[in-house]
Amino acid sequence: MTEDEMIWDLSQMVESTDPTSIQKKLESMIVEAEKVRDKYHGKIGGLDAKGVLQLLEMKDAYTLKFEGVVKYCRLMYSANSTDTVAKQLNDAARRAYMKVGQALAFVDIELGKLLAKDPSLVADPVLAEYRHYLERVLRKVPHMLSEPEERLIIMKDKNGIAAWEMLQSDWLSTRTFDIEIEGKTKTLPYGEIIGLYQSPNRDLRKQANQIVYENLGKDEIIWASAIRAVCEDHIQMCKLRKYPISMTQSLIANDVDRQTIDSLMHTIEKNVSLYQRYLRLKAKLMGLDRLANYDVVAPLPNAPEMDYSWGQSHSEIVDAYMGFDEQMGGWVDEMFERRHIDGEVRKGKSSGAFCSSWMAGKSAYILQSFNKKMGDVYTQAHELGHAAHAYLGSRAQKPSNLEVGSCIAETGSIFGELLLTERLLSKAKTKEEKQAIIANVLDEFGMAAFQVSARVFFEQSMYDTIKRGEFLDGETVAKLWVTARDRIYGDSVDWLGVMKWEWTMKIHYYIANYRFYNYPYVFAQLFVFALYKLYKEQDKSFVPKFKRLLAAGSSKAPRELAAELGLDITDERFWEKGMKQAEEFIDMLEDTL
Ligand SMILES: [Zn+2]
Repeated sequence: MTEDEMIWDLSQMVESTDPTSIQKKLESMIVEAEKVRDKYHGKIGGLDAKGVLQLLEMKDAYTLKFEGVVKYCRLMYSANSTDTVAKQLNDAARRAYMKVGQALAFVDIELGKLLAKDPSLVADPVLAEYRHYLERVLRKVPHMLSEPEERLIIMKDKNGIAAWEMLQSDWLSTRTFDIEIEGKTKTLPYGEIIGLYQSPNRDLRKQANQIVYENLGKDEIIWASAIRAVCEDHIQMCKLRKYPISMTQSLIANDVDRQTIDSLMHTIEKNVSLYQRYLRLKAKLMGLDRLANYDVVAPLPNAPEMDYSWGQSHSEIVDAYMGFDEQMGGWVDEMFERRHIDGEVRKGKSSGAFCSSWMAGKSAYILQSFNKKMGDVYTQAHELGHAAHAYLGSRAQKPSNLEVGSCIAETGSIFGELLLTERLLSKAKTKEEKQAIIANVLDEFGMAAFQVSARVFFEQSMYDTIKRGEFLDGETVAKLWVTARDRIYGDSVDWLGVMKWEWTMKIHYYIANYRFYNYPYVFAQLFVFALYKLYKEQDKSFVPKFKRLLAAGSSKAPRELAAELGLDITDERFWEKGMKQAEEFIDMLEDTL
């Protein structure tokens, strides 16, 4: 294995990597957007079906033409933010992207007005390929305000409601925490101290939680002001935009309906005892009477230290996908062969991991920091599931149909993790290895499906409290959080008192115009578990159906995509299938005792 294998080759995305030629291409991107504006601004209202088709096809061709250069700049920067050229190019790309956004903002607004005037266009056979895209544009129309109003809101929000988010993230990124590690006091930034939550040392985990939340709680007055302002602003905006419930904006953005999400959340509530059963089992595995909050996602104390080389990870993951489908396995292998994965650990590289699709190249790029741990292999399998999704989607759909919402976007990736789990379990030699693998799957499932559900209940309860005319001070918000949390955990976990301040650190609560970011995680997790259960029941006949679902991109709503597989996501029985799969994993874990 050469070092180079772990460093991606971004040059495939551009005709030339010469910075001057890249700058030129970015400039021509702006010029072409302005040409589109000159041609169509103020005229979309007069288009017939053929005219709309031309407009959308041109928009898609434009996306494909310039996607590579923009992503090249972004990815180069995320791979090395200390590189001067990368910094300049990323900056230039961002500026160009913003200018293009401004120049073309009129398209959806004018298109929305046209569709509102003539809704029959949505079903016009000429526009069949864009049907759902147009449906989504139309769904937003009744909630749009006049152009001057929209402009004013954007302008006022920037230094108004959106400033709370900045304050929250500035607070977190500038605070340091003193903690005693092996007899020495260390001063750690927030980003580092939270890494200790996963420490194998139980006392250290406890200390880290205690110190962080105690400090966050000291500034409760700031957090309460922020969250109150953001929630009250949302209630005002709901009135102004005529959203019937506080979740409507989010339902539209995620392309789902209330019936589906109600059915999902009921299923969660009905199954809290299943999750609690796992938490009690985990306590037993950890030799505890009951888990404390800092044990919930902690590693098992007797988990074996397993190391995976880059080559091992590559072959395990390819085999995992190959066992499901040869075409998908082949694409996963291609991601390695074409060097589309950046796994090298180095300074200046952005933290975390992501997969960026490359529609024009019908492929994708992945960034991660590969540290040889089982978690890194899982991350790789996860991101490669996103890549397989991109391979299928970009072969079947136009860019307008590849704006996949959060509920469906994680389908390929979480499914890929389960394929890897199957593979690793089949090769596990010891009981401890098996326990570590299953607990890892169930920890993630528990966090995404159940812990996040507590956040859904919590967010809803804040709007309800404000609407009842009550004031949200820090203690009131903390009480709402604890109530929501206890609906999920019951008495299965002991909480440190300071954990009532847990809501203070979740950035999402403070992001303006981004309400109910949470249930899509719940949806994705349970959706994939249900699909995986079906795969186990139907075996090979399930494979083409699953690939069709991924290939559909955003050309259909999640409800329709599921219906094509004969599934009704508005029915709680569908979601129960996902729970059944979780139960099987819990049984499997119990059998190892
Ligand atoms: Zn993902």
